[in-house]
Amino acid sequence: MKVLIIGGGGREHAIAWKLNQDSEVSQVYCAPGNPGMKDVECISISDHHELAKFAKENDIALTMVGPEVPLCEGIVNIFRDQGLTVFGPDKNAAQLEGSKTYANIFMDKYEIPTAASGTFDNETDALAYLAKQGAPIVIKADGLAAGKGVTVADSMDQAVAAVKDCFDGAFGSAGARVVIEECLIGEEASIFAFLDCETIKFVASAQDHKRAYEGDKGPNTGGMGTYSPAPVVDAAMEQYIKDEILTKFLKGVQAEGLDFRGIVFIGLMIDEQGPKVLEFNVRFGDPETQSVLIRMESSLAEALLKTAQGKLSEVDMKFSDDQALCVVMASGGYPASYEKGHEITGIEAAEENGAMVFHAGTSLQDGKLVNTGGRVLGITARAADIVSARDKAYEATKKINWQDAFYRNDIAWRALERLK
Ligand code: AMP
Repeated sequence: MKVLIIGGGGREHAIAWKLNQDSEVSQVYCAPGNPGMKDVECISISDHHELAKFAKENDIALTMVGPEVPLCEGIVNIFRDQGLTVFGPDKNAAQLEGSKTYANIFMDKYEIPTAASGTFDNETDALAYLAKQGAPIVIKADGLAAGKGVTVADSMDQAVAAVKDCFDGAFGSAGARVVIEECLIGEEASIFAFLDCETIKFVASAQDHKRAYEGDKGPNTGGMGTYSPAPVVDAAMEQYIKDEILTKFLKGVQAEGLDFRGIVFIGLMIDEQGPKVLEFNVRFGDPETQSVLIRMESSLAEALLKTAQGKLSEVDMKFSDDQALCVVMASGGYPASYEKGHEITGIEAAEENGAMVFHAGTSLQDGKLVNTGGRVLGITARAADIVSARDKAYEATKKINWQDAFYRNDIAWRALERLK
């Protein structure tokens, strides 16, 4: 079958790589794709209706949507209206990620554990609530803000500034409504589950590293590296998450009549009292996907197709017991401004030890591969244990170079700490 992937980052590169190994897949298309993708036809269509037309005209059996923006814009509705098979939530269901207020009301209604919060449409009320709560506290723009709309404020000054930024338009219309949340303390983990309105299945856990610099210092980023599975999600925790979060999530989806045939990737904060939900994402995580899919042993194509068709109960997904780790290489200066256009070298040498180099922010300029994004590459390796996976990923990473490139040297530090 022919598959179309929407997106062009590291997540989509990992999805394309995995789909190309599935015997039932004859051709992978990606819109827009990226220069690292092998055996993939990259197409430069971005309009959703034009993409649906392309899928119809080219007998695409399955479309898989990577990023949250097209999902929240309703690309799935357009495809389904045309009778096309597509993996992802429709526009209504995508609000679980597109509006933090919607997600909080949903969690409240279906008794999913999360932080206490308030939602505000004006600065005066928000500041009054803030004054009552005190710091530390978390300020969130309600809408999509490319991962930048959350401030974990240690002081009242920071919290007040974050509220004002939102209402002053720092995040455009996404910040016209502000969510103020209790600050949760603990260990973060991400979990992935597939669902199709009838069934929900736990897929895998992972841990991201959001801060730019080692020791979890510096500004928040889109993610500087991941590993999977996350040891904090042991068998007992996995069962608890299934009972207290996933089952209730599916119940809520059904009761609200949401058309959600896709993946939910849930950010959790875990302490002695158990896990609490930080956020729902209605798509694969980036860069979590890189370290999750490299462990997947069964067919991704079958899992995506059956989920999109509402037959998830027929799918038996298999993951290796191996550990996987992804190191993100970024452009110097990221997440603030950075220079683009520097030639990248060493990728072939990096892959010699079996590591995978997934592209996220690269372009071809005059036949040369150059950096054009903040997060540029995700160097991902798999091995029997986390130490070997880490060593393999970093051995590969060290072979890659471009001017001002940087990466964190301490990905998986929590898992390594547990071994001591
Ligand atoms: P979100 O996009 O909601 O996951 O927030 C991004 C990051 O902000 C999370 O990965 C956490 O590190 C942090 N965060 C979000 N909500 C909270 C909270 N209620 N308490 C503590 N940290 C939070």
